[in-house]
Amino acid sequence: MSNDLPTDASRGATTIIGVPFDRNSSYMRGTAMAPPRIREALLGPVSNVWTETGISLLQDGVFCDAGDLDLESAEDPFGAIEEAVGDALDKGLVPVCLGGDHSITYPIIKAFRERYERLSLLQIDAHPDLYDEFDGNRMSHACPFARIMEEGLVDRLVQVGIRAMTGHQSEQAAKFGVEVIEMKDHSDTLGLSFDSPVYISCDLDGLDPAFAPGVSHPEPGGLSTRQVLSLIQTLQGQLVGADIVELNPARDPSGITAIVAAKILKELIAKSRQA
Ligand code: MN
Ligand code: MN
Repeated sequence: MSNDLPTDASRGATTIIGVPFDRNSSYMRGTAMAPPRIREALLGPVSNVWTETGISLLQDGVFCDAGDLDLESAEDPFGAIEEAVGDALDKGLVPVCLGGDHSITYPIIKAFRERYERLSLLQIDAHPDLYDEFDGNRMSHACPFARIMEEGLVDRLVQVGIRAMTGHQSEQAAKFGVEVIEMKDHSDTLGLSFDSPVYISCDLDGLDPAFAPGVSHPEPGGLSTRQVLSLIQTLQGQLVGADIVELNPARDPSGITAIVAAKILKELIAKSRQA
């Protein structure tokens, strides 16, 4: 069966935007190669196009693909990301960005904040990414949530899967009022509820490396694929956008992490259709 992607924006409520950008990675590059791998897993013969909640991705109005941003030659990559996400929002679409490293969430959320008076952010991650700076880089993938919070770009930040907290980031979390649910305290009945529009930022290293080994910073003791899907499916609130970041194909020879990313993407698309 051929899985031809709808590309006409008017047909899609959710639009995927590839963000091949890994220049703010602190340790190893490679996440810029991820977007095509996730698309391949989403629409290839390995699975089918139905979500667990009974929606076909190929049904009219479910989803479209804006392709990958050309950031190679961009003078201001963050500006280009913010503009592309803003354009999608202005068309009434729900943008889901495929990274790239986690630094891209900062310009994405800037675009959302210009258009949403109230906004909550759910971050799935092994790491809080709240460093004031990392290796001298304030735009590092270890810093985006410090930038987001100090600029007041969201009203509420909830972090789940955290298991690599540091003293400095713990102080930052307290300073910014971040709700950190550390992995050691995780419960399958968290029942997260948001009374303002919510954005989900999913760093694939939030999952245990047994499920998602293809990341630059694997951290044992994390969430299962089912726990992440269940967080998405049981979340109370209006999902208005999401990103899936930090897949590193160079560390994912079997392609299993791309398949996990595609599975999460499918259920995010399904969730964004619920009011
Ligand atoms: Mn991480
Ligand atoms: Mn991260």
